[in-house]
Amino acid sequence: MPVFLKLVFRNRLAGAGAIIIAALVLTCLLVPVLPLADPDQTDTAHRFIRPFSEGRLLGTDHLGRDLLSRLLWGTRLSLAVGAVAALLAATFGTLIGVTAGYFGGRVDAVLMRGVDMLMAFPYILLALAIVAALGPGLLNALIAVAAVNVPFFARNIRGISAGLAAREFIDAARLAGEGHLRIILTELLPNVLPTIIVAVSTTIGWMVLETAGLSFLGLGSQPPQADLGSMLGEARPALITAPHTLVVPGLAIFVIVMSINLLGDGLRDALDPRLRSGALARPSPVTLIERAEVPAARAAPGFLDLDALDTRFRVGRRLYKAVNGVSLSIARGECLGLIGESGSGKSVTALSIMGLVASPPGVITGGAVRLEGEDVLALPYAALRSLRGRRVAYVFQDPLSTLHPLYRVGDQLTEAMRVHDRITDQEARARAIELLDTVQIPNPAERLSAYPHELSGGMRQRVGIAMALANDPDLIIADEPTTALDVTVQAQILALLDQLRRDRGLSILFITHDFGVVGQLCDRVAVMYAGRIVEEGPTAAVLAAPAHPYTRRLIDCVPELGGGKRALTAIPGLPPAVDSLPEGCAFAARCDRARDVCRTGTLDLAQTGGRAVRCLFPETTATEDRA
Ligand code: SF4
Repeated sequence: MPVFLKLVFRNRLAGAGAIIIAALVLTCLLVPVLPLADPDQTDTAHRFIRPFSEGRLLGTDHLGRDLLSRLLWGTRLSLAVGAVAALLAATFGTLIGVTAGYFGGRVDAVLMRGVDMLMAFPYILLALAIVAALGPGLLNALIAVAAVNVPFFARNIRGISAGLAAREFIDAARLAGEGHLRIILTELLPNVLPTIIVAVSTTIGWMVLETAGLSFLGLGSQPPQADLGSMLGEARPALITAPHTLVVPGLAIFVIVMSINLLGDGLRDALDPRLRSGALARPSPVTLIERAEVPAARAAPGFLDLDALDTRFRVGRRLYKAVNGVSLSIARGECLGLIGESGSGKSVTALSIMGLVASPPGVITGGAVRLEGEDVLALPYAALRSLRGRRVAYVFQDPLSTLHPLYRVGDQLTEAMRVHDRITDQEARARAIELLDTVQIPNPAERLSAYPHELSGGMRQRVGIAMALANDPDLIIADEPTTALDVTVQAQILALLDQLRRDRGLSILFITHDFGVVGQLCDRVAVMYAGRIVEEGPTAAVLAAPAHPYTRRLIDCVPELGGGKRALTAIPGLPPAVDSLPEGCAFAARCDRARDVCRTGTLDLAQTGGRAVRCLFPETTATEDRA
């Protein structure tokens, strides 16, 4: 089965809708060749025959016409009218919406005011007015239904197009000299298309209903032509005496509309890559934990210990081993650097500590996280929540996306305190000013009323650090907090974190991909590759004599000011996909020391003289290092 259909059928209700609609469409296509009675043939001698009578499966109506035949012909007509009306509305709505959104300015104002005028009329009145002007008939009902739905499509598509028109890839196409029509057709429309398809699939049912409504009022299909609405209208006088004449078309409309809507929801899910991966599913407040067993606690526990932590992502049938048996320990007041390329599992390790990996698709499948000996992953949600922010706080990479754009920074700071402490407004304000002062923000009292967008990148990151400090935590997990900042601001933030660590005895887990930053701040460093720790040791020792070839390569990538001429060498190749890790050493494909034996079996993290390395042929040994 093609992948797209598999995605649709993963939602069982959507699958049921798809099957019903497919069966209906097939039946409607076959109606002309099926052995059915003439739908318009009257037989007044056999009026209102009950369903399941001989030769009359669904009975007859007030003129003795065969209801099964009329139902199938009527369904064929109603579905066709609904689909054509939806396509017409989508075509004109998209044309207006894309033009208004792409060109903006006056074009947008003129088109949207026209749309607003259409929307200002009560919806059904507008449809009635159009039919009244054009005259009753199915074609005119179709035009009316399509016309009143154009504004719905135009408004939707205009909003999306306006957002896309301001994006860099559209600017790039303009700068490349492409014309408006080409940009709209090749850049804009493909991005809008999934929305159009979803909107069409969900509105066909709506259009079937509206056309049936007009026919019910006698403004759509005209006798003797059958459609579902006119069948309902004709059956109205016999509601009490022959209810089956009403129930049959009524049920048909219900089944058609429900099936189309269910299928529309499934199509939306299948077309949206974020919904496909589970990224837009509402995550649970704590990562799903499925541990078969819990590793024994260490004989000499640190302040925070990770023992053989496994975190996986389940996406469809794929299993991504993002964190694969990671063991780490951080002492009180210590700063541990966790370094590796993007995708090596650093951030997932950090988020796993407080159960913050989004589930779905994340799941912790093994290991333990111990804070002063207490297994955090075994705590009930309320206890875990009280640890978050109070004992373990996070500083993330991009403060603009972590700070709420609509709240003043003062409100966000005081909210972080109030989550854990009952304090008065005055106390919260005084503490917020103190925190901003601690992170060296000038005029802290005034800055409390600033919105995040009114601050520079460095200032926002300081606010992020102040929020992390709000509840006087014991451990700060800083996930690449300086990556988005320029070098001078980066140096200030690093100096600030170092000072806070010394003043407050904070432990820090500092995640980065830059050995220069590690050298400035961290006591120890752990190097991560493809979800595993490959080397660990005191920062000075690792920098002076890296043991793992990957560590050596990472260090070689860092330029050294005044260090003389040295070629900066990039690491060839890419890290392996963590859903299909190779056997043996995961770095073998990129390693200049690799031998055949590296590609077999499993490699352990060998501990020697305060350092650890996962390599069969390390660059240096602990003995060489000490010598
Ligand atoms: S185990 Fe072999 S392939 Fe892996 S890093 Fe060491 S030398 Fe290179």
